Parts: sequence; C-alpha cells; structure tokens
Amino acid sequence: MTEPASSAIARECVEGYLYTAQPFELWIFRRPPARGGIWVPVSGKVEPSDADLEAALRRELREETGLEQPGPVTPLDWQVPFDAPGGEGTWRLTAFAVEVDPAWRPALSAEHDLAERVSPSVASVRLHYTDNREAVQRLAARLEPRLGPNPIGAVRVFAQIGPELFEALREHRPKRIALQVPAGLVRNAHDLAEEIREATGAPVFLAGRPCFGACDVPMPDEVPGAEIAVVLGHAPIPNIVLPLPTFFVEMRHPGGSPSRLVEIVRAGGLPMRLGIVASVQHLDLVAPFEHELLRAGFSPKVGTGDRRLSYPAQALGCNYTGAESIAEDVDAYLFLGTGQFHPIGLALATNRPVYALDPLQESLAPPIDRAAIVRRRQLLVAGTRDARRWGILVSTFAGQNRTATALSLQFRARRSGREAEILTFSRIDPRDLEGRAFDAYVNTACPRIAIDDSDLYPRPMLTPPEFLMALGELPLEPYRFDTYH
Ligand code: SF4
Repeated sequence: MTEPASSAIARECVEGYLYTAQPFELWIFRRPPARGGIWVPVSGKVEPSDADLEAALRRELREETGLEQPGPVTPLDWQVPFDAPGGEGTWRLTAFAVEVDPAWRPALSAEHDLAERVSPSVASVRLHYTDNREAVQRLAARLEPRLGPNPIGAVRVFAQIGPELFEALREHRPKRIALQVPAGLVRNAHDLAEEIREATGAPVFLAGRPCFGACDVPMPDEVPGAEIAVVLGHAPIPNIVLPLPTFFVEMRHPGGSPSRLVEIVRAGGLPMRLGIVASVQHLDLVAPFEHELLRAGFSPKVGTGDRRLSYPAQALGCNYTGAESIAEDVDAYLFLGTGQFHPIGLALATNRPVYALDPLQESLAPPIDRAAIVRRRQLLVAGTRDARRWGILVSTFAGQNRTATALSLQFRARRSGREAEILTFSRIDPRDLEGRAFDAYVNTACPRIAIDDSDLYPRPMLTPPEFLMALGELPLEPYRFDTYH
C-alpha cells in the first residue's frame, strides 16, 4: 500500500486477523486472479450503519467468512493510512485480532477463492501488503505471554532492496550486517553492500559463499559478530530454524506481459489443463498470468505445498509438493523462470510434461525429456550395484541437514553387507572427495549435487531413493525423486 499524500481521513476501514490459539495459526484468504490473486486478511470499509469499528469488522467477518460467533476480538493498536483506489483521498485501516475455534472453517464469499490456515511464519511471508505482515508480527508479539516466544520475530521478507528494508535494518541497530547473495549477483555484491551501509550506517560484511537457497544462509562463524543476515534472491523456508535473525529480499521482478506470454503458450500447443509453477522472482506474475490463461480458455491450476514452501505456485529444487497437490487436475506443468534445475526436478517429481517459459526473454523451451534423464539415472544406479564402499554425504547447513536419513542409509548398507561411512560438510565440493577410498556416494544434502552436478564428482553420486534402488530395496521403476519436507 502507498503512503497517503495527506493526513485527512476520508474513510475508515477495518481488517481482522483470524487466529487459532492451539495450535497458533492464522487464517489467510486469497483474492481471485482477476483481483490480483494476493493473500490478505478479512477487510472492508466501515459503513454508516455500523455502530463502530468493531461492529464493522463483525459484519465483514459474517459476510466474508460466515463467522457468526468469533472468540475474543482485540484491537492490535495498528492503524495504517493509505491512498484510496481511484484517488478518493486518504483511507485508514484499523487492525483487530480475532480468535476462532480450531474446528471452525470459513464459508467463502465472492471476495476470496481460497482460504488456508497457516503458521504465523507462513502468514507473515505470504500476506501481500507490508502492513499486513507487520500486523501479524504484532499479533505474535501480543500473544507471547500466552502462547510462548514469537515464532516469527527473526524472519522478515522484502520484495526489493529499498527504503522498507533500510528502515527495518535501522530499527534493529545491528552492530554488523552479513550480506549474502546468490551466485548470479556476486558481481554486484559490493555495490549492494555499499548501498546498505550508506542507508543504514551499519557495517556490512559480505559472506564470501554465495547461497543456493534459503537452506544455506550464513552461519554465525562465517561472519563473526553479525547480528542480522540479509539474504538476497530467496524466500524463507518456513520449517527451518535460522542461526541468525534473517531478512530475505526476494528480488521480485514485476516483468513479463501476461497476454504476450499466453500467446506464446498457445502458439506452443501446450495442453489446456496447465499447472503453474514459478521461481520466487516471478511469483507476482502468477495471478495476472493465470487470469489471462483463463480468459484464453485454458484451465490453469496453482498448487499449495507443505511447510517447506512459503507461497502457492512456488517450488524448490528439493520440494515440489505444491505442484504435486494438483497433479490429478493438470496434463502438463508450465514453469515461469530461468534455468533447467527446477523444470528437471519438476518433471522427475511429477512425471508430467514440463515446459519452461522465461518471462523476460519471452521464450518457451521444449518439454523436459524426462525419459532420457531417468534412463541416465537408472544406468548410473545399475553401475553401482556391486559397489562395496559407500560414502554418505551430510550437509551441516540448517536447511539441508538430514543426519537421520544418513544414519538410516548407513544401517541399510551395512545390513546388506556393504561398508558405509558418513562424511559431513558445510558446502560439498567435488575436490574434497578426490583420493578417497569410496566406490560410490549417496548425497543427502541438496539434490542439485546428485542431479545437476553429478558429472563433477570422481565417483557415482546417487540420491537416497537411488541408493535404495542400488541396494535392491526399491525397484528402478517407477523412478522416485528425492524430496525434502
Ligand atoms: S536444498 Fe537445494 S533445492 Fe532445496 S532449498 Fe536448498 S538449495 Fe534449494
């Protein structure tokens, strides 16, 4: 929402954050694609017939969710003036917390096409407007005495590097900031560090190691003395505990013309029932693109994944649960983004045709040849069936560590008469495996290591399901992809 030009309030509005106490979760609501497909709380304008703000909220709750008898309704002491649509002056939102019974389910009106009950961290990431996310922070802080420590205090999300991020950093007055960038931004990293330093006055140290995901954020010993990490290019993974308070800057890109992209899809002869998946940078394009596809006669679907994913339509190279949730309703998937890593993983995980559409280059790649990739992987597995000595790789990064999986694989290997040792790494580097006396490896860290980078390693590198195929515990068909949850 934009800040108002004037402080005179032309109209009052209300919004309600519906939560359950046990477990502490929030209901969030999605507007239909024609209205942006964004996630919001219940909200509406105060009408002359409403006795006061709370009465207006109770009416909105009835109209938008069918909620007749809410639990306690509590002001969050959070008012946000904003420029009204259509130049109708300055309006003001007043936020309330509304407790609901865990058994309650909303009856949706035409205002929303989907409702979900999610953890506070997911709500604070997925809600579209900054002031919505701030309200969730306030709600979590308000409930701390009753429900325990604020589960989202350490994670903030920003669309871009800019004033909002700078203000949030200044508020925290960190003695030192750790800045971590993905490999694609290393050339700009020192300029970005300079920009943050100038805007906040805080020293910024660059983490020398670029990040591949929100799973490998900087560890405290990589940037000693850092009190906040700023991580660019990734969305948080809600189900991992971060070693430092972390501000994610998702580097959202507004670009791509939905109508032109739909023309490309039509010209490419793609099936009408399409599942949409997008990289984080292009998530803002999903709703308008979905809307245009609907207008063009397609049946697009967007799935919602498990607690490793922050947004609908999102996928990680290690988690395609959102796409899998709509597999029965689609004949192919369309990935909005760049690169092959996610489309290949999507094809392996879902066994559906997968097309990749680069929204900026406006180019549609041919479908992923899943059969060829699976054949190659199966040949690799077959070549390791007689391997005696196995190295089982474990990453120490918070979001990649699967020690329990590694121990289980080691037990199975030994049970079948093989030798197996566990090797721990932070980032796994092919050079660290040279000269070791293993016949083959199984990788429990990022699937990229086994799928994308397999050729870089001196010995065959399998995923955990492939290892079980090599042991004869799983059949080669159907091929099973490695996922995290
Ligand atoms: S484990 Fe790999 S695919 Fe999963 S989030 Fe991390 S970098 Fe991405």
